Amino acid sequence: MTAGSLFPRISLRRGKDVRARAGHPWIFKTELGNADRVPESGETVDFTDHRGQFLGRGYFNPNLFICGRILTRVEEPINAGLFKRRISDALTARQKIYPKDQTYRLVSSEGDLLPGLIVDRYEGTLCVQTLTAGMSRLEPMILAVLEEVIRPEAVVLRNDARTRQEEGLPLEVKVVKGTPPPFLQIGASGQTCTVDLLKGYKTGLYLDQRDNWKMVRPFAEGARVLDAFCYAGGFSVAAARFGAREILGIDIAEEAVAHARRDAELNGVAGMCRFEAANAFDKLKALAKAKEAFDLVILDPPSFARRKNKLPEALAGYKEIHLQAMRLVPPRGHLLTFTCSYHVSRDLFADVIREAAADLGRSVVLEHHLGQARDHPIRLECPETEYLKGFILRMG
Ligand code: SAH
Repeated sequence: MTAGSLFPRISLRRGKDVRARAGHPWIFKTELGNADRVPESGETVDFTDHRGQFLGRGYFNPNLFICGRILTRVEEPINAGLFKRRISDALTARQKIYPKDQTYRLVSSEGDLLPGLIVDRYEGTLCVQTLTAGMSRLEPMILAVLEEVIRPEAVVLRNDARTRQEEGLPLEVKVVKGTPPPFLQIGASGQTCTVDLLKGYKTGLYLDQRDNWKMVRPFAEGARVLDAFCYAGGFSVAAARFGAREILGIDIAEEAVAHARRDAELNGVAGMCRFEAANAFDKLKALAKAKEAFDLVILDPPSFARRKNKLPEALAGYKEIHLQAMRLVPPRGHLLTFTCSYHVSRDLFADVIREAAADLGRSVVLEHHLGQARDHPIRLECPETEYLKGFILRMG
């Protein structure tokens, strides 16, 4: 223990410092050695190796398996200066990726070295989410830094992500600055989107998919398209704009379908689009039974494997929807398919798809790999930051 340390010091057991030393921000409960005192939930702590050598400064929650997250590798204060540096770096990176756009994920948690913080920028409006007790404590400072760096017209706190409950945090949504309209209208990926800041899923839009919406372009002209798990209809609107003849979007949630209808209308493509509230598993099966055919099917389900122990069920679910979807796509037709489960690797995902095709006696060409939009940075030291994987498949 170093005399004069400001924060509780927690050592990791011998040999348990390899991941942290390699730059990964997470500390697991099973790695902990001694602490000079047990920190409170969300308190700033210093992590050291078993000899007491400093590894990183971050925050702690004694109640969780991932009990620590490192914010900095140097012995510096966790203050507005650090956050200003991190947020400015994130902003510069976004401005290079999307020079003409002011809609992006400005801060993507571990991807931007700010574990537990999400900030989405919808032009002049910010949607901020803290996911951990450690970040939640820093919220007033974070809001002040965002004010200084971005000068937003409106700021909404979307602290209703369910993972907050595991952290012992309340679920709440509040407008902390300005008066954002109920359906904020923004441009993303060349189309107009509405964002329901207070009640929309997650932080309003699936920004991680917006670069993929345009990937339907080569297959859209004159096509009949099925957009399963459509949410606000990002893929449907893109397909319509690129010349699709007819689009059917399906989502289990009525609010999602209403959102998709609203956005199709705004983009002047409502005439080609039909949206239906249904369970995609049932609907795909029914369409296949009715011998319906689509030139392009998009599958973008929610994560089926939020935890590793759910992987076998998740893979069975992925196989089932691919079996049904493939029955709808005739030879030379395309399937755009995604998994947003970190635990489902590209290889595992390809295996499941191969099995589904084999069961149907079909061949498949993997034409292209897709991933999350670049404002959701993949930090190589933290493989968990890569979660969205997709394939463009041509059916044989
Ligand atoms: N493709 C969308 C994002 C989809 S998110 C985009 O690009 O913006 C996943 C969606 O799947 C959510 O809207 C959720 O309501 C829907 N969903 C979840 N389970 C479903 C099911 N069994 N059938 C149909 N939709 C489902």
